[in-house]
Amino acid sequence: MRIDVITIFPEYLAPLGVSLLGKARERGVLDVHIHDLRAWTADVHRTVDDTPYGGGPGMVMKPEPWWSALTAVTEAGPDTVQPTLVLPTPSGRRFTQRDAQRLAGLPWLIFACGRYEGLDARVPERARARIPVEELSIGDYVLAGGEAATLVIVEAVTRLLPGVLGNADSVTDDSFAVGAMSGLLEGPVYTKPADWDGLVVPAVLQSGNHPAIARWRRDQALRRTAANRPDLIAGLDPADLDGRDREVLAELEERDREVLAEMEEWDRETPAETDRDPNPPPSPSTSP
Ligand code: SAM
Repeated sequence: MRIDVITIFPEYLAPLGVSLLGKARERGVLDVHIHDLRAWTADVHRTVDDTPYGGGPGMVMKPEPWWSALTAVTEAGPDTVQPTLVLPTPSGRRFTQRDAQRLAGLPWLIFACGRYEGLDARVPERARARIPVEELSIGDYVLAGGEAATLVIVEAVTRLLPGVLGNADSVTDDSFAVGAMSGLLEGPVYTKPADWDGLVVPAVLQSGNHPAIARWRRDQALRRTAANRPDLIAGLDPADLDGRDREVLAELEERDREVLAEMEEWDRETPAETDRDPNPPPSPSTSP
């Protein structure tokens, strides 16, 4: 896969040379090119931003350097494959594991890292007439620039490429992995020693009984997802659930109902703030 990144902070992308990505580049699985947007400015100050039309705070990235950069980077790449332009932006679609899987199947990604209030909107509009453009958000918060978001997306995508991870099978058990783990979080994991200061690894994981281990892991994944991401449980396709899955989810629902009933009971028995005596007698600890 070829990856081009255009940024005003090329040094920010140094992590693309480290760890699994660095090794993948050495092995030729990944071909990464980082470009300084300011190389495509035409003035002595190498200006990339200007004030926003319509007023308001902040600056907007000018279209001309971006268009020159995108044209040059596209023309310098292989002419046998089409690039996809990825624009990290908080106003984009939410980037998910499914997107990572899809982008991992593409031959060439160009990332455009915004700064300030983002790129002039005519840049993606004009690019869309030539190549696919993906505006992607890595979450509901705002970063100072697109570089950190680019690192996140590149790492999520490239670890799915054949030859990047030591054990390619490990991605199939991950949280959100397309397949059996779709819409689920991975449960707890353990390594040696089996007994660490009295904290013992669940017996089933030491049993060697692989069907039982797989079932235990799935139960744990359902439990953890229900606890941390109930929105994901609500989105599970009933056709993907087996009988035991439904049992686990029913147990969790029953437990939630009991907790709710206890809370309602507690509410009924505890006087509301307004029912309380506004001048209660001093408590023993505050008495002289
Ligand atoms: N004014 C923009 C808005 O409210 O949508 C925010 C601009 S932000 C300060 C500057 C740049 O950071 C964006 O152009 C984008 O490249 C990047 N960025 C910030 N938050 C992001 C997020 N959640 N996902 C992806 N990119 C983000």
